[in-house]
Amino acid sequence: MQRLQAFKYELQPTGEQQRNMRRYAGACRFAFNKALALQKENHEAGNKFIGYVAMAKNLTAWRNGSETPWLKDAPVHPLQHALKDLEKAYKNFFAKRAAFPRFKKKGQGDSFRYPDAKQIKLDQANGRIFLPKLGWLRYRHSRDVLGEVRNATVSQSSGKWFVSIQTQREVEPIMPKGGIVGIDMGIARFATLSNGSFLAPLHSFKRHETALRHAQRAMSRKTKFSNNWKKAKARIQKIHARIGNARRDYLHKATTTISQNHAIVCIEDLQVRNMSKSAAGTAEHPGRNVRAKSGLNKAVLDQGWFEFRRQLDYKLTWNGGHLIAVPPRNTSRTCPACGHVSAENRQTQARFECVACGFEENADVVGAINVLRAGHARLACGELAQSGRSMKQEPAEVSQAQA
Ligand SMILES: [Zn+2]
Repeated sequence: MQRLQAFKYELQPTGEQQRNMRRYAGACRFAFNKALALQKENHEAGNKFIGYVAMAKNLTAWRNGSETPWLKDAPVHPLQHALKDLEKAYKNFFAKRAAFPRFKKKGQGDSFRYPDAKQIKLDQANGRIFLPKLGWLRYRHSRDVLGEVRNATVSQSSGKWFVSIQTQREVEPIMPKGGIVGIDMGIARFATLSNGSFLAPLHSFKRHETALRHAQRAMSRKTKFSNNWKKAKARIQKIHARIGNARRDYLHKATTTISQNHAIVCIEDLQVRNMSKSAAGTAEHPGRNVRAKSGLNKAVLDQGWFEFRRQLDYKLTWNGGHLIAVPPRNTSRTCPACGHVSAENRQTQARFECVACGFEENADVVGAINVLRAGHARLACGELAQSGRSMKQEPAEVSQAQA
């Protein structure tokens, strides 16, 4: 069995390397944004989508043109990869998996990828990695990289630079442990399992929300681009990074435990995007209760349901298990005892009481049981063969804390 895995390390760059990484990240962002602008213009003019090959030809012209000569200083493969990223963003949008691609802003997920393994040299004994146009970079060698290097991504987060090395290796197939379980995703409880256990909500954002609001207000009072403004801005970025770290740790722990103890996990096929849409409503039918709903949506996004599902998917695969996504039809309104479907079965957010047979249970547990049932039904139809990797995504990234 082939396993794809990423190993992430903090880089210890020289001043010159830092300046270059900033420039290359900027160049890749520029290429992405310019291609997106072109794609939009092209669409408005009524023309067909510009494929990667044609877009890459434009990139060559931009690099050789007189308007943006500095593009030529950046390594070419990461620039091309930025165009591939855009194409992937469009594909996800067309497949309704993601919102329309957005322009990238400086300081928001600055990164670039070297997609060609032949150009990367890894010297683990000396804790250094060679990347085109950057040379040998030192990194904190916290654990060994396993497998054959496929690509490397350089990224920045709150002032620090990281490299994520993606590898491929052959591992022994594993027999999965444990049985089948259904999961209901929620707000009051992050995830409820059909066996009755549950994960507490993740309030990482709420906890830091006040601090973030204060920091944002402080920044708005400073003169733009002054030293104090820059300090305030750095503080905001730090809070964002803290939120991200807390969320990642939480999700990794939760998905590791669940995937190690179950062979098959059934989960609702929720589309977060649709939920956001329903809150705002349309021009003719403005969303009712927009405020409460957008609060809910924020909580949904905050808790990273998609990330939870993505991690579950690959970790189950690692452990020889499977993830089954089921349509969320009536999972919260169907009685698990008698099968009666009614909105009245759910009297409150937390309580389920069947109006037909009187069956009573926590509403989230009922949801999870129904998800499990739907999963069983899919299994009976031979779903497993193709369900494996329904969400084709980046391979797993194991952080240092995880390892
Ligand atoms: Zn009933």
